[in-house]
Amino acid sequence: MSVSDADSITKAAAGAAASGDAGGKATRVVTSSMLGMGMPDKARWSERVTAVLGLNPGVFAGPGTNTFVVGKGRRRLLLDAGQGAGGYDDLLELALKQDCDGAELDRIVITHAHPDHIGGVEQVRARFGALAVEKMPLERNDLGIEVKKLGHGAVVETEGATLEAIWTPGHAGDHLCFFMREDRTLFSGDMVLGAGTTVIPPDGDLDDYLASLRRLLELDAERIFPAHGPVIEDPQRKISEYLAHRALRDEQILEGLRAGLTRTDGLVRRIYVDVPEFLYGAAGVSVEAHLRRMVKLGRVRHEDTQWVLV
Ligand SMILES: [Zn+2]
Repeated sequence: MSVSDADSITKAAAGAAASGDAGGKATRVVTSSMLGMGMPDKARWSERVTAVLGLNPGVFAGPGTNTFVVGKGRRRLLLDAGQGAGGYDDLLELALKQDCDGAELDRIVITHAHPDHIGGVEQVRARFGALAVEKMPLERNDLGIEVKKLGHGAVVETEGATLEAIWTPGHAGDHLCFFMREDRTLFSGDMVLGAGTTVIPPDGDLDDYLASLRRLLELDAERIFPAHGPVIEDPQRKISEYLAHRALRDEQILEGLRAGLTRTDGLVRRIYVDVPEFLYGAAGVSVEAHLRRMVKLGRVRHEDTQWVLV
């Protein structure tokens, strides 16, 4: 599943003014982008964590999925398995040898069942043996893989690392973040990204997503290791920025509705003035995530293809 919306893709000039009718406000809060971003194939991010790229770059995945070998022992866990891209299994084997003191894998833990996180499970098992898979179950998405259930608050232990599962629905209903107690590192999956913003797909829920962001804010993590893009050194600032970004989008959408616009594409054209037209589809997914939340809150009605202020 795509992980960044059109907000992430086009980098607006800092402080760019909005279109005149938006009152000269900045058109976006988050101005970073994963477009064209490169990441090393593998790298040690800390004494307990080695990142191995899923080798699945793309418009939405940015440089690809970060998968993580976690722990300090002879046997370590793999957090997320990529999407099964050719060469990932070779790269993972090389990383275990060169960057993880020759450690072996003992199981796979999955943040959520989007294909770029769970799609590589069989590839990894084919190379490293029948490893158990642990995640919050979501049967329709789990690709028929038998999983050991992880719920909110579950503790996943491996030598040298203790991960606490934090249920963070919104981007996906089964989404878990993992908080590593030893050094207060948060593995944020697709909740918070190293650049740009996260897409809320049609089966996601923006209201849940915002509540999940607030839950992450309370953790007071010292840094975030996201599933896409580089390490985030200032979690509180980044999460607050994500919340502000969504609040601004709400405001822009309401302004558009008040100005008489009733259709998603019209709202996209008004708000995403700094985004090329080929990204309007992705922008529309984002706008509709906001509109569905407004319907849920009783502020907007949805009639056929029209969105109307209550
Ligand atoms: Zn995802």
